[in-house]
Amino acid sequence: MPNYCDVSLPVPLDKAFTYLAPHQELAPGMRVLVSFGTRKLAGTVLRVHQEAPAYKVKPIEKVLDPEPVFDQKLLELGIWIARYYFAPVGEVFRVMAPLGGEVKRSKVFRLTAEGLRQLQQSALDLGEETEPGAQILKLLEPGPVALSVLQRKVPEARKLTEEFRKRGWLESTEEAGERDPLRAPSNKLLVGSSEQTPGEEKLTKWERELLAYLHLHPGVHALDELEEKVKNAGTSARALARRGLLKITPKVGAIRQPEDRGRPVLNPQQQAAFAAIRTALEKKQFEAFLLQGVTGSGKTEVYLNAIEAALALGRSALLLVPEIALTPQVAGQFALRFGNQVAILHSAFSEAERAEYWRRIRRGEAKVVVGTRSAVFAPMPDLGLLLVDEEHDGSYKQEETPRYHGRDVAVVRAQQIGAVVVLGSATPSLESRYNVEMRKYSHLRLTERIAQRPMPVVETVDMNQEFLATGTHALFSRRMVDAVREKLAAKEQAMLLMNRRGFSSFCLCRSCGYRVGCVNCSVTLTYHKRDRRLLCHYCGYSERVPETCKECGSDKVQFFGAGSERIEEELAEAFPTARIARMDRDTIHSKNDYEAILGGFRDGQYDILVGTQMIAKGHDIPNVTLVGIVNADLGLSMPDFRAAERTFQLLTQASGRAGRGGLPGRVILQTINPEHYAVRFSVDQDYDAFYAKELTFRRMMRYPPFASLANVLFRSEKQEEALRMSGVAAELLSNEGAELRVLGPAEAPVAKVKKEFRYLMLLKSPQRKKLAEALARLRAHAEQEEWPATGMIIDVDPLSLL
Ligand code: ADP
Ligand code: ZN
Ligand code: ZN
Repeated sequence: MPNYCDVSLPVPLDKAFTYLAPHQELAPGMRVLVSFGTRKLAGTVLRVHQEAPAYKVKPIEKVLDPEPVFDQKLLELGIWIARYYFAPVGEVFRVMAPLGGEVKRSKVFRLTAEGLRQLQQSALDLGEETEPGAQILKLLEPGPVALSVLQRKVPEARKLTEEFRKRGWLESTEEAGERDPLRAPSNKLLVGSSEQTPGEEKLTKWERELLAYLHLHPGVHALDELEEKVKNAGTSARALARRGLLKITPKVGAIRQPEDRGRPVLNPQQQAAFAAIRTALEKKQFEAFLLQGVTGSGKTEVYLNAIEAALALGRSALLLVPEIALTPQVAGQFALRFGNQVAILHSAFSEAERAEYWRRIRRGEAKVVVGTRSAVFAPMPDLGLLLVDEEHDGSYKQEETPRYHGRDVAVVRAQQIGAVVVLGSATPSLESRYNVEMRKYSHLRLTERIAQRPMPVVETVDMNQEFLATGTHALFSRRMVDAVREKLAAKEQAMLLMNRRGFSSFCLCRSCGYRVGCVNCSVTLTYHKRDRRLLCHYCGYSERVPETCKECGSDKVQFFGAGSERIEEELAEAFPTARIARMDRDTIHSKNDYEAILGGFRDGQYDILVGTQMIAKGHDIPNVTLVGIVNADLGLSMPDFRAAERTFQLLTQASGRAGRGGLPGRVILQTINPEHYAVRFSVDQDYDAFYAKELTFRRMMRYPPFASLANVLFRSEKQEEALRMSGVAAELLSNEGAELRVLGPAEAPVAKVKKEFRYLMLLKSPQRKKLAEALARLRAHAEQEEWPATGMIIDVDPLSLL
């Protein structure tokens, strides 16, 4: 009886596809290569069965893994994510296993009948000048050839094949195959001996020499170093590895360890929190905790102890941290405590690095994993503890398909496998704090800073009053300037937060009121002084600063609003001798830039660090005694029910960077809304008061946590098409009754992005099930009507308005 298997493929369709299974043992969780239309795709086997479908099925081309890459629990988790977030299951599995780098895609060309005729006439038609063209046709005569091969022989192959394809001489298909890991450059590979000893096979002189060298120098060697010691080591090592006579593995970055400051004795509150987590671990069943600890209360130390306890019980542990907070310092802390049992998973790693870590984790060689969002899928055997640091952080939500929330997935995964999950924050999300009230999470609190250090003192400066008193619209109040001067004199450090990048936020004509906007998006362009350009923060479009107005020709073109670049410049003018660094998306292009600036600041190379919200995240820099918040109001005007929560979190977290060492901290907060509750409660560092007030508002307005929410975005380059889809969707959901509220569709707050028009619909229901049913209906309709896959975007539990 033939075997069939259902395979999930990375295509935007909400189903798995059935193929004929090969004779060998195929199991769910293995990746396979299949043909899909004209393409070859890598997919994941979800199910093996004997139910013959009604249509003719194709066989699987190739099985990519000798054993499943996903165990049953991870397969279930992936399917849960696909259902809950309305994401194509194939896309979910592609995100779950970072093994994409091991599959190579290539374009393969073959001659058509017309192409063959051309080739036969080529002596006549393709003269001397078109020689490369004739060469390509010749190369294709015996059979299909990959573009990469053609390119090696004919440099202009890409252009010519495209041209010939348009003329109908060639056809192309896309093929996926396995990438040969041995083709990586030598400085990326490690060589070790294998158990297998050479038998009768013939070895070259150089291969023999390499094996002899490895015999005399056991252990693991970098291939590029071997090349310096043994002639032709690169070629010999790869040839030997193909025959299994030695082992080659990709190199992964080493973790730098900080100096060991010994392990602190937990204070009573830390001890109590740790004891509760350990007791739960011993029960080996699901339990969720919210660890709410003020900034500087030593949450990390609780995590470290909890992880040790999990390891002692023979289980492994996973810690998620926000994207930007995974610094070498953080990684180093864990390496120091757990040595080479730690694996770090960062989205900035290369695909090969991530794949190698992933395999190590799967083999159970890394019992502690620290990583950003997608590390929640780390395939750890015996996972007993999941920790989510700064659980309120927005970077846990993926802003592209699948739009999952890393924290929520961590809780679901813990539930599935009977593990303990700990969510930590100084400013928990409303949802998580409410789950304590609902008795879903146990509450652990650290109410004081380590060593009775005081909380920072926050002073508000009302910028309206400042304007009345000084008569000028200055960026910095007098109090701010004085405070910075004092800190510079005392050789202490300051951080200044300005949560918007660029120099000025817009460029306006004083004569006619025209604002320079993006050609692709309905937003104004931001002025970036260093580049002397106006830049779109949505699509990257940029143009030169105009000398005269495009509308009226007047030369009264001026800049308004301030960003971090301008803060840096004005600070430098006010304090010419101060050493100032800036951290935002314009100065940080890679992980290295980030380390250089933050590490330099920590080491005292700078006096002042200016930056966007990047500077507010979790850093522990003892010499910072002043935090200046230049404009506390920026986030408050956003058309979003989470604006107050986000502002409260940012202000409280930023303030929390001050006074973490032996010296007390001071915070100066400039605002034009001193009475706004998000500002007021962050000044008092009073989370409980903020929570109570915000919760009342959410209850009244029926927002999360009192309702489930989904955004549905319709987009198209043709405005009428986007409008039409949104209208059809609204019609479809019009009779849902009182349990489902449909808001909109309306033009999205940013009505056009990257040339696409956008309409937004918001679905709200007190019952998750009702919401899911409505979304399922919408999706089925879109599929049936063959709306383009990018035409309708569903975002479940959205954090932003898209
Ligand atoms: P949080 O994440 O809660 O803001 P951290 O975990 O960064 O705080 O801890 C703040 C500082 O206190 C760190 O430098 C940490 O090493 C130190 N620390 C933590 N626990 C203790 C303790 N029990 N005794 C002394 N120092 C501690
Ligand atoms: Zn004008
Ligand atoms: Zn744009």
